[in-house]
Amino acid sequence: MVKIVFATGNKDKLREVREILADMDVEVVSMKEEGILVDIVEDGKTFEENATIKASTIAKHTDAIVLADDSGLEVDYLNKEPGIYSARYMGEDTSYTIKNQAILDRLEGVEKKDRTARFVCAIAAVLPDKRVLVTRQTMEGTIGFASDGENGFGYDPIFVPDGYDCSSAAISPEEKNEISHRGKALRAMRDLLKKELSR
Ligand code: IMP
Repeated sequence: MVKIVFATGNKDKLREVREILADMDVEVVSMKEEGILVDIVEDGKTFEENATIKASTIAKHTDAIVLADDSGLEVDYLNKEPGIYSARYMGEDTSYTIKNQAILDRLEGVEKKDRTARFVCAIAAVLPDKRVLVTRQTMEGTIGFASDGENGFGYDPIFVPDGYDCSSAAISPEEKNEISHRGKALRAMRDLLKKELSR
């Protein structure tokens, strides 16, 4: 069975990757389970660069396939902030209740048509021969006028996906996986990996 090391400490992300790759003959383990404990300096300028930096750093310690993701929220009216700094916006330890309220405040008085935003996810894979594959997908939407919903995490309560009249925190996790940036980028990566493994 082919082993894939996923560069995350986040159990929910690991579960999501296992679910999406379930129809492949692969074993997905976390970097910790693989005994790889390294500090990763995410100093890229794009989601793609940061995902590649994470995967390449881990790949120095294993010959297995390594997968890594990088994601965030781009708000067009705020010149695509917080972007690659989404986790660090207003400080890593600041609660999302405060971060979300700050974004709502910065958009005070802005009409719906100018509140366009998207979640972006890039996934990088480093293959055993060290070739790199990258996928990038988005979930398009708008910033709502108030926080809404109890599911999800991070900026979900203020993000209204196109075609919905509630936030991504108010839809079920299964439905969000179907339409989300991460779900789509992972499925695109699964298709690339399937091609590589059948060669
Ligand atoms: P990372 O890719 O784990 O570094 O996450 C980047 C940050 O982007 C997260 O901490 C969240 O703030 C935000 N983010 C990424 N994806 C989502 C999502 O699906 N919902 C809400 N926030 C998200």
